[in-house]
Amino acid sequence: HDTIGMLTLDQAGNLSGACTTSGAAFKYHGRVGDSPIIGAGLYVDNEVGGATATGWGEAVIRAVGCFLVVEFMRQGHDPETACRMAVERVISKNPDWREIQVGFLALSKDGEYGSFCIAPGFNYAVRTPEIDNQLFDAQSRL
Ligand code: ASP
Repeated sequence: HDTIGMLTLDQAGNLSGACTTSGAAFKYHGRVGDSPIIGAGLYVDNEVGGATATGWGEAVIRAVGCFLVVEFMRQGHDPETACRMAVERVISKNPDWREIQVGFLALSKDGEYGSFCIAPGFNYAVRTPEIDNQLFDAQSRL
């Protein structure tokens, strides 16, 4: 269960991304979550970087969250900062933000990566030629 997002940078410097839908979570009849909406649950611009999201999809859709993360990287912010800024945008739109969870993961064109979420508990795995599937805890606001 839960969303899985993946971001990759190949040896030629090309970025790609994918994400699953959330499995059993939030599966109401007729609901479309953020995962299948490009720009919301996933966005990749091969000139800049990619981002993927998890958490309460409605809040991610309203912020066009992953597009926002990539635009913050385009402005020169590192991936973790871009994710944090997108989380702050979600927080600003949701007075009940302490009751929800949203998290972003980002990878830049130069191979930097980072993550940020509202509440602690998310982690992500990194694999590079130097790092063999190491788990990291996402930074969080709470
Ligand atoms: N973002 C997914 C959704 O709202 C849920 C999840 O990330 O677990 O459909």
